[in-house]
Amino acid sequence: MRCKERAELPGVLVKAASVRCGEPLHDGWVRCDLAAHEDGDHFGLVDSLHRGHALWAKWGDGDVELVEQPDCDVAQPAPARDGCCLFARHQGGHTWEAGGEGR
Ligand SMILES: [Zn+2]
Ligand SMILES: [Zn+2]
Repeated sequence: MRCKERAELPGVLVKAASVRCGEPLHDGWVRCDLAAHEDGDHFGLVDSLHRGHALWAKWGDGDVELVEQPDCDVAQPAPARDGCCLFARHQGGHTWEAGGEGR
């Protein structure tokens, strides 16, 4: 199960993210990409950056922030070897553990 929380980036962050990513974002909506969780902040992928890093929107009780995070490099064991689509040291399961929902 994937977390169902969504957040909308304020216009100033949409602009900042568009500059960081080198192309305009379609809109400011992000959905949390973590496995369903009770605690901690939500993280939604905004866009990939340079190799091995991505720009994430992070939100909890307060405002949405932009954070740059290195990619999670834990891959599924052979033979599947799917990569994880989250960032390093994320909480919860890797995306390849989520069971195909939404991917
Ligand atoms: Zn979440
Ligand atoms: Zn992972």
